[in-house]
Amino acid sequence: METLQQLTRRQIDALRSIGTQETPERGVALKSTALSLKVRPPSALGYLSPLESMGLIVRHRGKSRLTARGRATLTEYQRHHRVAETLFGSLGLPPAETCAAAREIDLALSHRTVEEVCRAQRHPSECPHGAPIGPCRTTDPSHTPPRHPAPGTAL
Ligand SMILES: [Zn+2]
Ligand SMILES: [Zn+2]
Ligand SMILES: [Zn+2]
Repeated sequence: METLQQLTRRQIDALRSIGTQETPERGVALKSTALSLKVRPPSALGYLSPLESMGLIVRHRGKSRLTARGRATLTEYQRHHRVAETLFGSLGLPPAETCAAAREIDLALSHRTVEEVCRAQRHPSECPHGAPIGPCRTTDPSHTPPRHPAPGTAL
């Protein structure tokens, strides 16, 4: 199962809040994560522990930071979320409502399905709120298409 599909809504929210609050110098205190999720610290810790076991964050002296894998997972999440928003937008939902609707499905979709949806929408470059949608991993000439490595090239 893909990483996003293993995460709960609260876990991805915790991961996102660490991603926005951490600085190059400092990780994020449990208290700050708890505050931004509007829960008590023990509950916040309950979201962080699985993220740590999955290798998405590291915790050191009570401060959390994203790992490279955690950052990549956030990037994937943004793609899923923004493509889903665009889908609901194309179905007629006003932009203000697409965000909440997208949150109902963005974790459940596989990368493959997100790419299918993205292709069906002709690879939008941004979500209804103007946030950029990164490239698909398909061979479609789209957004800023990623180059497939030449045969024999290590990736
Ligand atoms: Zn949104
Ligand atoms: Zn695309
Ligand atoms: Zn958006």
